[in-house]
Amino acid sequence: MLQKRRVVLTFPPDRIERPVIYRLVKDYDLVLNILRAQVNPEEGKMVLELEGPSDKIKEGLKYLRNQKISVDLLVKDIKLNTEECISCGACVAVCSSGALSLDIETAKLNFNRDKCILCGCCVVACPLSLIEVEM
Ligand code: SF4
Ligand code: SF4
Repeated sequence: MLQKRRVVLTFPPDRIERPVIYRLVKDYDLVLNILRAQVNPEEGKMVLELEGPSDKIKEGLKYLRNQKISVDLLVKDIKLNTEECISCGACVAVCSSGALSLDIETAKLNFNRDKCILCGCCVVACPLSLIEVEM
């Protein structure tokens, strides 16, 4: 069965120019979607969505770790209880992708699922624990 996993990869300087993404596609037959990438001389960061059979995803992640690339798994889904939301904006403040926003006119919380990178930062930010994750 095909699965999707989102991960954050952190590349040390000596791994930035290696063709690891190419190897993930070619050797592990994974479909990749690069959601974000940031590279500087000290470090490379990438938010990546991998799609493929679960055993291939596991093998691909093992390959990355063997390459000394740090792999952090992101959550699978976010669930928001908007009915009890008090529009405090705490979750909006930590949402770097802009998926969460407050409507200027109604002050209601908007969630744009397409922009969500499933980092999970909003979960701990909500003082009412209205945001849950599926791991
Ligand atoms: S999981 Fe991350 S990207 Fe998604 S809504 Fe929460 S803070 Fe924003
Ligand atoms: S942190 Fe919680 S209460 Fe505040 S706006 Fe976000 S979901 Fe609503």
